Amino acid sequence: MPPFARKLIDWYAHAHRPLPWRETADPWAILVSEIMLQQTRASVVIPYWQRFLERYPTPAALAIAPEQELLTMWSGLGYYSRARNLQKAAQAITDAGGFQPDYDFLRALPGVGDYTAAAVASIAFGLKHAVLDGNVMRVAARLANDAGDIGAGVTKKRLQAAVDQLIPTPQPGLFNQAMMELGATLCVPRQPQCLLCPVAEFCEGRKAGRASELPVKLRRAVPILEAMTLLVVEREGELLMWQRPADADRLAGFWELPEASRLPQAKLGEKLGTVRHSIVNHSYTITVYLARLPRALPGKETQLKWIKRNQLAELPVSTTSRKAIQLWVKGRES
Ligand code: SF4
Repeated sequence: MPPFARKLIDWYAHAHRPLPWRETADPWAILVSEIMLQQTRASVVIPYWQRFLERYPTPAALAIAPEQELLTMWSGLGYYSRARNLQKAAQAITDAGGFQPDYDFLRALPGVGDYTAAAVASIAFGLKHAVLDGNVMRVAARLANDAGDIGAGVTKKRLQAAVDQLIPTPQPGLFNQAMMELGATLCVPRQPQCLLCPVAEFCEGRKAGRASELPVKLRRAVPILEAMTLLVVEREGELLMWQRPADADRLAGFWELPEASRLPQAKLGEKLGTVRHSIVNHSYTITVYLARLPRALPGKETQLKWIKRNQLAELPVSTTSRKAIQLWVKGRES
């Protein structure tokens, strides 16, 4: 094995964090972990991943799951299109008679991009496909002393070619995991720990004294700030909730507390506080009020429903509403 890969994999063998999906070669368990990890931290993913695989131990089990149950299992992880795509992928895998040990098969599954296909192909099937996620891009840019804008397609191609050169034929999955671990633990964004790095001798960015300036990122999306007001309307252990229509652009089928604009007849009571939530490049500030209704709901409000509080745990509830409800519960307990 080439010295770079040998040193990296040897380091990984003793230094890696014990994450449960690293203890399995089951492609389904690995695919689920990779989809969950796409926009969520590992520490948050662990309990979700364990519960999810208990409920859906095989693609066939998820393929036939009711959507509301699936969304409830995913509730809190956000980015719900991932859950829906994972179910479509499970159906495609089941239709194909199981996983095919083939990159193109994996890449064609709904919700599976270059990174996820390479991760599952290499880790579960030992196929030589180098992953390029944000961590690996940073490591690769520093190793090559590449000051190209990592937001540019041409830089990504160059970095992909660089890791394609480095990945060894034996143990490509371990190599990929080691590159990601190096980026997550030592080759971190602000202050890379070069003195502890197992591949420092190969690193051109370190030799040039500018590792911490790399990678270069020119385009920064300015977050869009949004404000909303959510109402907690209670009636004898029930909360008034609103279900998003099945064809909504976002969070279709999810339950939410009503926004104030949806209930103009409501009388606002105590302000319970504010919660914040960020998603993609939107940053929400949500003000939460207690409110009461002066009269029964008008008939046209068909998507509003009284839901028993203990039923909420079994329903897909959006993260913003979940946070607002927690605020209300905390206020009642204090
Ligand atoms: S030597 Fe430093 S900059 Fe280079 S790969 Fe290692 S941690 Fe990253």
